[in-house]
This record gives sequence, C-alpha cells and structure tokens, in this order.
Amino acid sequence: MSGLNPRQIEAVRYTAGPLLVLAGAGSGKTRVITQKIAHLIGHVGIQARHIRAVTFTNKAAREMRERVGQQVKGINTRGLGISTFHTLGLDILRRHPERIGLRAGFSLLDAQDSESLIKEHLRGTRNADAIGLSAVQQRISRWKNDFVDPEQAMSRAEDDFEAQLATLYAGYERSLRAYNAVDFDDLILGPARLFRSQPDLLETWQGRIRYLLVDEYQDTNGAQYELVRHLAGPRGAFTVVGDDDQSIYAWRGARPENLARLKDDYPTLKVIMLEQNYRSSARILGLANALIAHNPHVFEKRLWSELGPGERPRVLHCKDEAHEAEKVASEILHLKFAEETAFGDMAILYRGNHQARPFEKALREHNIPYFLSGGTSFFARAEVKDTMAYLRLLANPEDDAAFLRIVNTPRREIGPTTLEKLADYARARAIGLLAACGELGLAEHLNERQRNRLGVFARLIADHGQRVAADPTAAMSALVEAIDYPAWLRENASSQPVADRRYENVTDLLSWLGKLHKGDFQDKTLADMVGHLTLMDVLDRQEETEGGDRVHLMTLHAAKGLEFPHVFLVGMEEELLPHRVSIEEDSIEEERRLAYVGITRARQSLTFTLTRRRKRYGEWVLSAPSRFLGELPKDQLDWDNERAQTPENRKARGLSHLHRLKGLLNAD
Ligand code: ATP
Ligand code: MG
Repeated sequence: MSGLNPRQIEAVRYTAGPLLVLAGAGSGKTRVITQKIAHLIGHVGIQARHIRAVTFTNKAAREMRERVGQQVKGINTRGLGISTFHTLGLDILRRHPERIGLRAGFSLLDAQDSESLIKEHLRGTRNADAIGLSAVQQRISRWKNDFVDPEQAMSRAEDDFEAQLATLYAGYERSLRAYNAVDFDDLILGPARLFRSQPDLLETWQGRIRYLLVDEYQDTNGAQYELVRHLAGPRGAFTVVGDDDQSIYAWRGARPENLARLKDDYPTLKVIMLEQNYRSSARILGLANALIAHNPHVFEKRLWSELGPGERPRVLHCKDEAHEAEKVASEILHLKFAEETAFGDMAILYRGNHQARPFEKALREHNIPYFLSGGTSFFARAEVKDTMAYLRLLANPEDDAAFLRIVNTPRREIGPTTLEKLADYARARAIGLLAACGELGLAEHLNERQRNRLGVFARLIADHGQRVAADPTAAMSALVEAIDYPAWLRENASSQPVADRRYENVTDLLSWLGKLHKGDFQDKTLADMVGHLTLMDVLDRQEETEGGDRVHLMTLHAAKGLEFPHVFLVGMEEELLPHRVSIEEDSIEEERRLAYVGITRARQSLTFTLTRRRKRYGEWVLSAPSRFLGELPKDQLDWDNERAQTPENRKARGLSHLHRLKGLLNAD
C-alpha cells in the first residue's frame, strides 16, 4: 500500500460492497484501480482470471496492464482481464455467438464499414440527400444504445422522416444479420441483451467475473451501464471510478447521470472522494479549478496539490496557424536542448484532428520526432482495409462485407450488375457471396465469362484460405503477391514514393500479424485475432512497433486519463474550443469540461496558444480568443512570455540547426 494516501487505501481495501470513487483529475483514481487489482489477487485471494477491469481506450488498458504487472511481481496474473468495454463485449459474444443469432467466426464491422453499409441502403431511399448519412448513422447508434429495435423505432415514428430513418435502420440490421456481422454498438448491446434474456448465461458470467473495476465511469452510456449492472449482479462486487467534470462523450450517448443512478440501483453504495492531486503544480491546478467552477456541479470537489506553485502557465499569441506551429516547435526545441527535456515528456493537444497538420509540418521541418494518434488511423487507410478484408474473408468465408470490398480490388472486371445478381442468388439460397460464386445454379443468372471471373476469385480465396490458419503471415504474403497488390497501389498513387509508403503499411500489418500469431494469439482462432486487430487503434500499433522518444500529438478526447510534464494546449479560440457546433447548440459545458481535461493533463508546464487569423475553407477568418481563456484568473497567466525568444525565434533556429546536425552525425 505504499504510495497511497489514507482515502486511497480505504478505497483499495473496501470490498464489502459496491464502491464509487468520485474525484477530480489527477487524484489517483486510476492508481486506486491498479493497486486494487494487485490487492484483490495478492490479499483477498481472488484469482486473476476472475477479475475484470474495464477502461476507455486500448492505450489505457495497456498501461494498466503494465502497472499491475509491476506491482504483483511473482504472483500469477494469468487470465487477468483488462480491456476496453468493446473488447469485453467481443469476448462475451465470441463465446456464445449462436445465442444472439450469429454463427461462429462472425465479423466485426468498423465504423467505416458500417458507414458504407448505410450508404448502400440510403442509395435506394427517396430524397437520400436530404436525409444525410451522418443523421442516419447517429440515429441508428442512438436507437441501439437505448435498446430500441427497428420495429419499436417504426412504431414510435411521428412523421415521414422518422419513418424513413426507421426503415433504414431495419434494412441495416437485416444486412448485418445476412452478413453474419456485428457493428461496434452491438459489442455492448449484444451482451447486454443476452444477459437480459438468458439468465443461465448471466449466471455463468457472474461466476466468471467475481470482481469488476471500471475506470472513467462518467463516460459510460446507457448500454454500458446496463452491462456493468448485469455483470456486477446483486452482490455488487465492483469498484467504479470517475469524475463528472471530465465527462466528454455526451455526443456519443454517455450519461454522467449514471454516477448518480448507481446510488438508486445499489442503495448500499459506498462513495469515497479524493481531493489531493498528485499530478499538477498548484498554478496549473488553480487554473483548472477556476475554469470548471463556471460549470454547475452535482458534487462539489476542490482539488489541492502539494507539488508547489510551479511555473506560471503561459499564453502565446500567434499570427496564424503556421506561426503557431512554428512557435510551438521552437518551444519544444528549447525545452529539449536548453532544459534537457525528453521529447516524450511533451504533448500538443488540440480540439480537432484537422488542427494537427501544420504542427506535423513544423515538427518535420525541425526534425522533431512525434507520435500522431487518431487522425487517419492506420486501420482506416485504404490499403490496410483491403488487406484486412482479404484476411477477414480468409478467416470467415461468409464475411460478405469483406467480399464486396475486395472482389474487384485489384480490378477483376466484376461489375455491379454481376454482383447484384450474385447477391440475389446467394440470398435466395441463404448462403454467403463467396460460396455462391462456385455454385452451378448461377448459370441461370450469369453468363460464362462472368461466372469464370467469379470462379477465379473464389479459387484464389480457397487456395490461400487453406494455409491461413497455420501461418497467417505466410498465407497473406503469398496472396498479396498473387494479386500483385504493389502494382495496384502504383496504379492508384500519385507517385512512386506514395505507393511505396502504402505498401509499407501492408507489410507492417503482416509482420504485426505474425507477431500476434506467435504471441498472445497462439491458441486462439484466426477470427479472434482478426477481431482484435479491428479493435486496435493506431496508437497501439505505433507504440508497439516504434517506441522511442517522441512528442505526442493528439486530440483532447484522446488525451483523457493521460499525463505529460509539458503540455501545449493549442488553438484556444472561439469556434475551435469551444467548437463551433457546440456554440450553435449551446452545449458549452461539455466543451469546458474538455478544456478542463486538457489543462489537467499537464504536470509541470502548460502553454496555451491562439492565433489572430486562421484559414477556413481557403479563406482567412479572424479568430477571437476562447471564452475559456477569459474565465481564467488573468494574473495567474504569463502573456506572450516566450522561452525561445522571438520574433525570429533566432535561438530556436540555432537549436534546430544543431539538432539537424546531430541527426546527420547519428545517421552514420
Ligand atoms: P485522471 O482523472 O486524469 O484520469 P486519475 O485520478 O486517474 O486522473 P492517476 O492517473 O491515477 O489520477 O494519478 C495521477 C498521478 O498521480 C499519477 O502520476 C500517479 O502515479 C500519481 N499518484 C496517484 N496517487 C498518488 C499518491 N498517493 N502518491 C504519489 N503519487 C500518486
Ligand atoms: Mg485516470
């Protein structure tokens, strides 16, 4: 129990009933969870495989696993389940697919796949443009998370528009079932439904999970809440930790009220508050407290820190976004070379992914290494999606979504009419598209040339499918070669280097696949591995493969739960933070919480930046300082006091040259 304060110790030791730890940023909530896992295994005697901890992102899950690993050296942690909600859901579904009408080896559609599926259905709808893709997507997701099925959605529809949405929802669900596939929402919803209707299964799972821990509880949505309630059962063996001031996913259906609702569902709930912050110096914390005081509060909490006043947080005014990026790059070089700070101790945080580009450019120009998380994630790249689709089809020949993605990639002269006829035939026979390709009955619907092309494709998949379970990497490499995928990439890229980079992504994926196959997934099925890959995000992959000392670039949403000694919170302007949409929709409070999350990531130094003008859709637009800056105590901030003196950032330029020179010398 070393390294914990008395309240934290109480939270770790308390196992008599359900527990909620409600506390502000940096107060050690996540630390309570990791220590509690160690305590449960080491002192309470619960076996690791009966403990389940749920976090919000893959990165957080991995960090937690590492921290627990350090604390319970010598104790058996085999089977310890630390994962995101989605991975937990996938685990549950994989064990009993038939119980919710799926077949073994079902596929998982990522956000992009389900988007294209919805697009397909929209295509056949009247005034599709007026309805809009994102409206449909959001609505379907909302319905699913509120446990509203298509029939209910239809019966509740109050006008034509709603009825159309409900029809699209019904079609979408039908396709999912036909494709033997689930989407991300189903990963939470499916298990929750399963537990509602099948008490025997629930009992099995309650026996399997003897203690449940949930981090970032304020961001659970209705379906996640229900899943937790089921798994925890009447005995309420759980600890959840959260901070209502950091609830930043209302737009995805998160309900901070879930914190209060716990008390209704579990009258014996114990609540422990933590108030000491161990992360940030007092000045930074002062800003965070001052900002969040502008939001109404359900629970009052006041954070304090013993870390001393620390550096004064700064605000840097910049001419435009290029200048902003340049200034931040000079500050980074200054920290690195004048103050000997590691690049990995610095983070640039922003509201939207589009803000990253100028920073990437400036960092590259100065040879500053960085990680970019989010953005066009690795798995969203076309070449990676193609390769994944081949892999999915090899793992699950009934994955029609994967089939449709690659049947004509690279081009095989298989047109949409052929595919429609094939789909009609497959539907009538209740088989998958790939299986249909080889059937004699097709002759009635398609001519010989069309059938031959489909046959060639089906044979390609069958040939490689036989080898894939034994050695997925070798089978996939052979396949990539057989279809001459590099040539296809060359055809579709603007230049050779671009094509090369894309091909590198493919080989990266394959070598990663090999590592997984020999490591964590040795005794699991290929379908398990494919599901796992689909759930991973770019950050995981980068950190697993690259490592090294790099500046972190990420959105505020992605930064939740993390901490960095030096934080640059950029783009502190109206319409960026708070975001334009939230100003229009009057949801400023959530944006303020987002700013609060940003500020509280910083340990030693915090620098805000803002510009005078910014390019929007090719036009210069004057920017106004964020109202959140105005809500901070003015005398607690240093305005335009740059470490790396400008205007010309002379010193930084010098440092940059030095840095480049070093790079050259090291290169040899
Ligand atoms: P967030 O709300 O941002 O997720 P948190 O409440 O989960 O924050 P942690 O990340 O657990 O906070 O802890 C913040 C920092 O304080 C970490 O570096 C952690 O190691 C450290 N810390 C937590 N408790 C203590 C303690 N009792 N003594 C010393 N350091 C601590
Ligand atoms: Mg935390």
